[in-house]
Amino acid sequence: MSFRWKLFISYLVLCMVMAVGLFTAVNSILETHLLDESRENLLHQAQLAKQLVEQQHTLKPQQLAHKLGSGIKARVTLIAADGRVVGDSDVRDDQVLGLENHRNRPEVQQALKSGSGWSMRHSDTLRTTMLYVAVTLPTNDMSILRLALPLEYFDTAKQTLHKLLGGAVALLLIISLLLSVIFSNITSKPLREIADAAARIGIGERGVRVPTGKGEEIDYLARVLNEMAARIEDQMHKLTSEQQRLAAILRGMGEGVMVTDTQGAIILVNPAFRKQFGLPGEVEGRPLVEVCRHPDLLHAFEEQRESGDEVTCEITIPATNLVLMAHWVPLSGEHGKRGTVAVFHDISDMKRIETMRRDFVANVSHELRTPVAVIKGYAETLLDGALDDTPERGRHFVSIIAGHAERLTNLINDILTLSKLEARDAALALHPLDLCGTIRKAQMLMEDHARTKGIRLNATCPESVPKVLADQGQLEQVLLNLLDNAIKYTPDGGDIAIRTRQENKRVVIEVSDTGIGIPSKDLKRIFERFYRVDEGRSREQGGTGLGLAIVKHIVQLHGGEITVTSEAGKGSTFTVTLPAA
Ligand code: ADP
Repeated sequence: MSFRWKLFISYLVLCMVMAVGLFTAVNSILETHLLDESRENLLHQAQLAKQLVEQQHTLKPQQLAHKLGSGIKARVTLIAADGRVVGDSDVRDDQVLGLENHRNRPEVQQALKSGSGWSMRHSDTLRTTMLYVAVTLPTNDMSILRLALPLEYFDTAKQTLHKLLGGAVALLLIISLLLSVIFSNITSKPLREIADAAARIGIGERGVRVPTGKGEEIDYLARVLNEMAARIEDQMHKLTSEQQRLAAILRGMGEGVMVTDTQGAIILVNPAFRKQFGLPGEVEGRPLVEVCRHPDLLHAFEEQRESGDEVTCEITIPATNLVLMAHWVPLSGEHGKRGTVAVFHDISDMKRIETMRRDFVANVSHELRTPVAVIKGYAETLLDGALDDTPERGRHFVSIIAGHAERLTNLINDILTLSKLEARDAALALHPLDLCGTIRKAQMLMEDHARTKGIRLNATCPESVPKVLADQGQLEQVLLNLLDNAIKYTPDGGDIAIRTRQENKRVVIEVSDTGIGIPSKDLKRIFERFYRVDEGRSREQGGTGLGLAIVKHIVQLHGGEITVTSEAGKGSTFTVTLPAA
């Protein structure tokens, strides 16, 4: 029930109680007053009748009673001292003697004691309330004069009084009803306003304030509410900025973050998590098991929930080859139940590097093993007596040792070059470089080698080709490696061509040969370290399997790129693109 109704009903009950009280009080006052008035009148009439009786000595009591009865609007009864009725205005003469003795009537008793008396009682004969008044007379045969007045008019007057009073009270009630409505409305209005404002504050509406100036108590309430609203707004503001900060942090985090509630439903994920697990749609509010079916993820999640402890595990996502280090921690929630916070750190690169490092160590050991074994073997053979054999044999063995030592040197040099490039401390001395000059120099250095195999080395470099921003030494290394490969993998009498041209803001260098070519299945991998199409042939040619890896590194450090096209048996073309100076 609303406050307004309660107020209205209180007012109404109050008015009704007052109306009933008023009705009862006024009614009883008026009734008493009416009765007193009637009694006084009747007493006066009795006194008058008494005087008349005293003056009439000739008339018999019955005649006197009739005479008085015709003058007074009341029944007149004359009673002897012993209580006998000697005259009655309402009774025929012959009936008087048969009337009951009146000595014990209360009014008669009172009159006998004090000279006058009265009483009011219901008359069964007349079926109405009667008012009796009695006075004493000085004679013995008529010692009491009694007047009896039916109070019919009194009842009628009472009824009229009741009607009038009832009407007045009803009118009063209607007026108070209307006033109750108005007052309860007026009184409850500020409270309704406060309640409205409180409801709006409650749903987070900003800038809502309760108007003041509505009375002391209401003002106090309004002030308290306004202070509360200001505090809530302040808190909300802090909370919002906190949330925004948190959201920005989560958005900016490279690590995936997921938070679940006590029921296991997701309540928060960041973009990194969505990306890691490939979840494009809405996931908040859904159980984790419904969102992602990754067995390792679900297993770790269950483990954490069951144990309630921190859990760390590695999760691999096969579709994207991602390796994640997941750290699960409990999040305290309501009633001792716990949610979960999980952070997924992408360790794919670390894993890749680790694998590469392992492969690299394995490859290096493998590469070193053969020359070291050969050197050791031949050295032991020499020591075991081959030195004392023919000098030609000894020289032959030593030249084999020297060849493998050379291979070891090349390998170690290449490994060092590569590790310097990878360590990023290969500080490039970048200068605008005349590309044609560098190509000519490389051509010159490799020409002898090519000539021994009867290979023609042809370089074209138009003067219009712009300079490139490069490190002279490193660029020479790129060209030498590519030319060296071209010579190594081109059979005697082949052709090698170096061509340069400008493409937009870049300069393109092509090194093509008419050699053995590279099978298409190997094309993708030839820039990997130690990858060779034909290991035997590479070794035979003094290759380390690191040349192209070094080339690719250098080109990338210059902000360029290298591609290869090849057809097995027909030749290969390596294309290096570098930014123009
Ligand atoms: P390597 O020292 O073995 O030459 P590289 O890294 O320079 O190592 O080259 C990797 C592999 O790529 C070589 O073993 C060879 O199989 C292939 N390759 C490189 N250049 C050529 C080329 N011009 N023609 C054919 N195959 C080539």
